[in-house]
Amino acid sequence: MPLAVDRYELGPLQTNCYVVRSERGAAECAVIDPGGDAADLRLELARLGTSCAGILVTHGHFDHLGGVADLAEGTGAEVWMPEGERERLERFPEFAPVGVAGRPHAPEHLVSGGETIEVAGIPFECLAVPGHSPAHVAFYAEGELFSGDVLFAGSVGRTDLGGNAAQLFSGIRSKLFSLPDGTLIFPGHGPPTTVGDEKRTNPFVGENAGRYGIR
Ligand SMILES: [Zn+2]
Repeated sequence: MPLAVDRYELGPLQTNCYVVRSERGAAECAVIDPGGDAADLRLELARLGTSCAGILVTHGHFDHLGGVADLAEGTGAEVWMPEGERERLERFPEFAPVGVAGRPHAPEHLVSGGETIEVAGIPFECLAVPGHSPAHVAFYAEGELFSGDVLFAGSVGRTDLGGNAAQLFSGIRSKLFSLPDGTLIFPGHGPPTTVGDEKRTNPFVGENAGRYGIR
Protein backbone atom coordinates (compact mmCIF):
# COMPACT_ATOMS: atom_id res chain seq x y z
CA MET A 1 0.00 0.00 0.00
CA PRO A 2 1.41 3.43 -0.88
CA LEU A 3 2.44 5.66 1.98
CA ALA A 4 0.32 8.67 2.88
CA VAL A 5 2.49 11.71 2.14
CA ASP A 6 1.60 15.32 2.89
CA ARG A 7 3.82 18.17 1.78
CA TYR A 8 4.28 21.53 3.49
CA GLU A 9 6.52 24.35 2.24
CA LEU A 10 8.26 25.74 5.30
CA GLY A 11 10.90 28.30 6.16
CA PRO A 12 12.58 31.12 4.28
CA LEU A 13 13.29 29.05 1.15
CA GLN A 14 9.91 27.26 1.08
CA THR A 15 11.62 23.94 1.65
CA ASN A 16 9.41 20.88 1.37
CA CYS A 17 8.66 19.19 4.67
CA TYR A 18 6.95 15.80 4.37
CA VAL A 19 4.64 14.17 6.87
CA VAL A 20 4.72 10.47 6.06
CA ARG A 21 2.33 7.86 7.41
CA SER A 22 1.94 4.16 6.69
CA GLU A 23 -1.68 4.96 5.76
CA ARG A 24 -4.18 7.80 6.15
CA GLY A 25 -5.37 7.72 9.73
CA ALA A 26 -2.16 6.23 11.15
CA ALA A 27 -1.55 7.36 14.72
CA GLU A 28 2.14 8.02 14.10
CA CYS A 29 4.09 9.77 11.36
CA ALA A 30 7.65 10.44 10.31
CA VAL A 31 8.50 14.05 9.56
CA ILE A 32 11.17 14.66 6.94
CA ASP A 33 13.14 17.94 6.81
CA PRO A 34 11.08 20.28 9.00
CA GLY A 35 12.69 23.48 7.75
CA GLY A 36 10.40 26.05 9.34
CA ASP A 37 8.06 26.90 12.16
CA ALA A 38 7.42 23.80 14.26
CA ALA A 39 4.37 25.37 15.94
CA ASP A 40 2.44 25.50 12.65
CA LEU A 41 3.55 22.00 11.83
CA ARG A 42 2.41 20.64 15.19
CA LEU A 43 -1.03 22.18 14.65
CA GLU A 44 -1.15 20.45 11.29
CA LEU A 45 -0.18 17.11 12.83
CA ALA A 46 -2.93 17.55 15.40
CA ARG A 47 -5.40 18.30 12.60
CA LEU A 48 -4.32 15.08 10.86
CA GLY A 49 -4.72 13.19 14.13
CA THR A 50 -1.16 11.90 14.08
CA SER A 51 1.85 12.30 16.32
CA CYS A 52 5.48 12.68 15.33
CA ALA A 53 7.34 9.41 15.96
CA GLY A 54 10.65 10.52 14.46
CA ILE A 55 12.36 13.24 12.43
CA LEU A 56 14.44 12.38 9.37
CA VAL A 57 16.91 14.91 7.97
CA THR A 58 18.36 14.51 4.48
CA HIS A 59 21.28 16.92 4.92
CA GLY A 60 22.60 19.77 7.00
CA HIS A 61 21.65 22.88 5.02
CA PHE A 62 19.92 25.37 7.28
CA ASP A 63 16.72 25.53 5.24
CA HIS A 64 16.04 21.86 6.09
CA LEU A 65 16.72 22.26 9.83
CA GLY A 66 14.86 25.29 11.18
CA GLY A 67 12.09 23.35 12.92
CA VAL A 68 14.04 20.26 13.98
CA ALA A 69 14.95 21.28 17.55
CA ASP A 70 11.51 22.67 18.41
CA LEU A 71 9.69 19.70 16.91
CA ALA A 72 11.99 17.17 18.58
CA GLU A 73 11.89 18.79 21.98
CA GLY A 74 8.19 19.60 21.81
CA THR A 75 7.11 16.09 20.83
CA GLY A 76 9.88 13.91 22.28
CA ALA A 77 10.60 12.55 18.78
CA GLU A 78 14.16 11.47 18.03
CA VAL A 79 16.19 12.71 15.08
CA TRP A 80 18.05 10.75 12.38
CA MET A 81 20.53 12.66 10.24
CA PRO A 82 23.75 12.13 8.27
CA GLU A 83 26.74 11.67 10.53
CA GLY A 84 28.96 13.80 8.30
CA GLU A 85 26.71 16.84 8.67
CA ARG A 86 25.70 16.59 12.32
CA GLU A 87 27.59 19.74 13.37
CA ARG A 88 25.31 21.83 11.17
CA LEU A 89 22.45 20.98 13.50
CA GLU A 90 24.50 20.83 16.66
CA ARG A 91 25.95 24.30 15.95
CA PHE A 92 22.99 25.64 13.95
CA PRO A 93 23.54 29.38 14.57
CA GLU A 94 27.06 29.21 13.14
CA PHE A 95 25.81 27.88 9.79
CA ALA A 96 22.47 29.67 9.34
CA PRO A 97 22.16 33.20 7.97
CA VAL A 98 21.52 35.84 10.60
CA GLY A 99 17.84 36.11 11.44
CA VAL A 100 16.85 32.59 10.38
CA ALA A 101 14.82 30.88 13.09
CA GLY A 102 16.09 27.63 14.50
CA ARG A 103 18.10 26.22 17.39
CA PRO A 104 20.83 23.62 17.87
CA HIS A 105 19.94 20.02 18.62
CA ALA A 106 22.07 16.91 19.01
CA PRO A 107 20.66 14.19 16.73
CA GLU A 108 19.91 10.97 18.58
CA HIS A 109 20.76 8.75 15.59
CA LEU A 110 23.38 9.11 12.86
CA VAL A 111 23.18 7.56 9.41
CA SER A 112 25.70 7.28 6.61
CA GLY A 113 23.82 5.25 3.98
CA GLY A 114 23.15 1.54 3.77
CA GLU A 115 21.03 1.31 6.92
CA THR A 116 17.31 0.70 7.15
CA ILE A 117 15.62 2.60 9.95
CA GLU A 118 12.08 2.05 11.16
CA VAL A 119 10.07 5.14 12.07
CA ALA A 120 6.28 5.21 12.53
CA GLY A 121 6.20 1.59 11.43
CA ILE A 122 7.77 2.45 8.07
CA PRO A 123 11.11 0.93 7.02
CA PHE A 124 13.17 3.70 5.43
CA GLU A 125 16.24 2.65 3.50
CA CYS A 126 19.02 5.26 3.74
CA LEU A 127 20.86 5.90 0.46
CA ALA A 128 24.11 7.86 0.50
CA VAL A 129 23.99 10.38 -2.36
CA PRO A 130 26.70 12.98 -1.74
CA GLY A 131 27.56 15.82 -4.11
CA HIS A 132 25.04 18.53 -3.21
CA SER A 133 26.42 18.29 0.31
CA PRO A 134 29.17 15.96 1.55
CA ALA A 135 27.08 13.39 3.44
CA HIS A 136 23.60 13.81 1.94
CA VAL A 137 21.22 10.86 2.26
CA ALA A 138 17.92 10.08 0.54
CA PHE A 139 15.23 7.98 2.21
CA TYR A 140 13.41 5.24 0.28
CA ALA A 141 10.35 3.37 1.52
CA GLU A 142 7.47 1.51 -0.13
CA GLY A 143 8.22 2.73 -3.65
CA GLU A 144 8.63 6.34 -2.61
CA LEU A 145 11.84 8.33 -2.48
CA PHE A 146 12.53 11.41 -0.39
CA SER A 147 15.43 12.88 -2.31
CA GLY A 148 16.24 16.06 -0.40
CA ASP A 149 18.26 18.41 -2.60
CA VAL A 150 19.82 15.68 -4.76
CA LEU A 151 17.22 15.41 -7.53
CA PHE A 152 14.28 17.65 -8.41
CA ALA A 153 11.62 17.59 -11.12
CA GLY A 154 13.69 18.68 -14.13
CA SER A 155 16.77 19.64 -12.16
CA VAL A 156 19.46 18.55 -9.71
CA GLY A 157 20.88 20.07 -6.55
CA ARG A 158 23.37 22.89 -6.81
CA THR A 159 26.98 21.88 -6.28
CA ASP A 160 28.54 25.28 -5.63
CA LEU A 161 28.16 25.11 -1.85
CA GLY A 162 30.99 22.71 -1.19
CA GLY A 163 29.51 20.01 -3.42
CA ASN A 164 30.82 17.96 -6.32
CA ALA A 165 28.89 17.66 -9.59
CA ALA A 166 30.55 14.46 -10.86
CA GLN A 167 29.86 12.74 -7.55
CA LEU A 168 26.26 14.00 -7.54
CA PHE A 169 25.53 12.83 -11.10
CA SER A 170 27.08 9.42 -10.58
CA GLY A 171 25.19 8.92 -7.30
CA ILE A 172 21.88 9.79 -8.96
CA ARG A 173 22.52 7.40 -11.83
CA SER A 174 23.73 4.49 -9.70
CA LYS A 175 21.57 4.78 -6.57
CA LEU A 176 18.37 6.55 -7.64
CA PHE A 177 17.94 5.62 -11.30
CA SER A 178 18.34 1.96 -10.31
CA LEU A 179 15.01 2.18 -8.46
CA PRO A 180 11.86 1.16 -10.38
CA ASP A 181 10.65 3.72 -12.95
CA GLY A 182 7.37 4.08 -11.11
CA THR A 183 9.09 5.24 -7.90
CA LEU A 184 7.55 8.51 -6.73
CA ILE A 185 10.15 11.16 -5.91
CA PHE A 186 9.42 13.77 -3.26
CA PRO A 187 12.19 16.39 -3.52
CA GLY A 188 13.36 19.05 -1.08
CA HIS A 189 11.96 21.82 -3.27
CA GLY A 190 9.19 21.91 -5.87
CA PRO A 191 6.67 19.32 -7.05
CA PRO A 192 6.92 15.52 -6.97
CA THR A 193 8.14 13.53 -9.95
CA THR A 194 9.04 9.92 -10.77
CA VAL A 195 12.26 8.05 -11.45
CA GLY A 196 11.03 7.19 -14.97
CA ASP A 197 10.23 10.82 -15.84
CA GLU A 198 13.61 12.07 -14.65
CA LYS A 199 15.47 9.30 -16.45
CA ARG A 200 13.75 10.33 -19.68
CA THR A 201 13.70 14.11 -19.44
CA ASN A 202 16.03 15.47 -16.74
CA PRO A 203 18.37 17.87 -18.60
CA PHE A 204 21.29 17.14 -16.25
CA VAL A 205 21.19 13.39 -15.70
CA GLY A 206 18.48 12.08 -18.06
CA GLU A 207 18.91 10.08 -21.26
CA ASN A 208 19.30 13.19 -23.40
CA ALA A 209 21.51 15.17 -21.04
CA GLY A 210 24.37 15.34 -23.57
CA ARG A 211 22.16 17.14 -26.09
CA TYR A 212 21.96 20.14 -23.84
CA GLY A 213 25.70 20.32 -23.53
CA ILE A 214 25.53 19.61 -19.82
CA ARG A 215 27.37 16.66 -18.33
ZN1 LIG B 1 20.56 21.81 0.39
